[in-house]
Amino acid sequence: MRGLMMDTQLMISGLLRSADRNYPDREIVSVTADNPRHRYTYRESFRRTRQLANALNRLGAEPGDRIATLAWNDYRHFELYYAVSGSAMVCHTINPKLYPEQVAYIIQHAEDKFIFVDLLVVPLLEALADQLTGVEGIVVLTDEAHMPKTALPNVVCYETLIAAEFEQFEWPEFDENTASSLCYTSGTTGNPKGVLYSHRSTMLHAYASCLPDVLGLSGHDTIMPIVPMFHVNGWGIPYGSLLVGAKIVFPGPKMGDGETLQALIEEESITIASGVPTIWLGLLSYLKESGKRIDSIKRLSVGGAACPLSIIEGFRDEFGITVCQGWGMTETSPLGTVFSLKSSNKDLPADEVAKLQAKQGRGVFGIEMKIASPDGDELPWDGVAFGALKVRGSWVCSGYFRLDNASPLDEDGWFDTGDVATIDPDGYMQITDRTKDVIKSGGEWISSIDLENAAVDNPKVAEAAVIGRYHPKWSERPLLIAVKNAGTDVNKEEILSWLSSRVAKMSLPNDVVFVDELPHTATGKINKLALREQFKDYQFPD
Ligand code: ADP
Repeated sequence: MRGLMMDTQLMISGLLRSADRNYPDREIVSVTADNPRHRYTYRESFRRTRQLANALNRLGAEPGDRIATLAWNDYRHFELYYAVSGSAMVCHTINPKLYPEQVAYIIQHAEDKFIFVDLLVVPLLEALADQLTGVEGIVVLTDEAHMPKTALPNVVCYETLIAAEFEQFEWPEFDENTASSLCYTSGTTGNPKGVLYSHRSTMLHAYASCLPDVLGLSGHDTIMPIVPMFHVNGWGIPYGSLLVGAKIVFPGPKMGDGETLQALIEEESITIASGVPTIWLGLLSYLKESGKRIDSIKRLSVGGAACPLSIIEGFRDEFGITVCQGWGMTETSPLGTVFSLKSSNKDLPADEVAKLQAKQGRGVFGIEMKIASPDGDELPWDGVAFGALKVRGSWVCSGYFRLDNASPLDEDGWFDTGDVATIDPDGYMQITDRTKDVIKSGGEWISSIDLENAAVDNPKVAEAAVIGRYHPKWSERPLLIAVKNAGTDVNKEEILSWLSSRVAKMSLPNDVVFVDELPHTATGKINKLALREQFKDYQFPD
């Protein structure tokens, strides 16, 4: 028997309509290339978003068309999120920090019809001009006063484009399974693959993200997504914020700069911010050097890569701030697991809590997870057994855009994440490695993440990466590559002795090499592909 409830569709534009009614005066603050502090209200934002929707129509964009953005986190990018998806078009966010040939590949593969580009990213498109043959027009995200001189064809100014438009627009209603946005994986494991989100998946993810034990977003919060809006929809924060009516602060192009972040946090009284570990590492060292504070912050969300204990303890001890680690992927929208303290764990001593925070978190309702052996058998949640992490849920991808032959699902319909993990009896999941990064030494698996975390806990080490290198006896052994903290000196023996009390003897790296810096991917993770290339001729000392 069917229930007798209305069959209304979950629409991203529904967030705009609701927020316009309920929170019209909430603020959105942005740093942009043409204005260091732009601020306006939700109501003004939504008025411009409707003008943009009219402009898209006038340009000839149609439902289903991919509209690309190459932009930082700011209010114009936010307007695009809603105007494009709300018009049944697909908001295709592209990472401007990818290699130019990857950007060209992605634009061609997605067949983007229009590209909306940040002022600072115009030179990237100029360099790719001869590869943009399918693109009908380029819109520069600025005003007339800042329009660059460019030889690119069919270029218009964003502010001029929308100024001419009506302020009224009726958001269409359509099937909630319609595609809403598109994000290509950053390609750390091969050619970028397109993950195509729907209105339904985005809205269910937005509901879940606001829950108290997930990102815990509330209308009382001021939220700063430092995680880029081109990286898995800014972890869904541009949607969750509207759902609860939170003030939003977009840090613009200066996302990695500790000084800018500290100033924004203090001036705008930010309560929650989200970003990858490198961002927090940078902010923490800036705060230590400058003696400045970030007292309004209640919680920092960290994800995208393993968060070292030193970051968790640093923010706790100096600032009383809780660092909540989460795990996810482009393919999981991204929220999969997030740290929250179980009621049964509430009396744990602070150091035990920190150890839980250093794990990747507990499952979010809406995502099922399991770990499986190489034969596909489900492994126990005992905190010891480790295996392939598999997930299933309404915001997990079931296929890649225009890659019909490459189903990412196993025969039971689970998505294999490519991560290796343990899950403890309390449900805390811990990534021990990515399948391809695990070091296979003899018959044993050594976790590169465990070694990296233990190494960066040493106060003299700023950053560390471990890769497997050929070894004649063991086939592979770990090589630790480290960056020293500024003004400190440390040698191989000191690091090995530090590690020997923290990891199993068989995991100890066979060598430690110091470098000035480690290569990072466009999303701020250590680029192990590049490191393996850099050390491809490396041989362990006898
Ligand atoms: P890409 O796959 O191109 O690197 P994603 O952003 O989708 O881009 O990366 C997802 C991967 O990042 C996960 O599969 C996992 O390996 C890693 N990851 C994400 N969050 C964490 C975390 N908190 N700890 C450890 N690894 C993480």
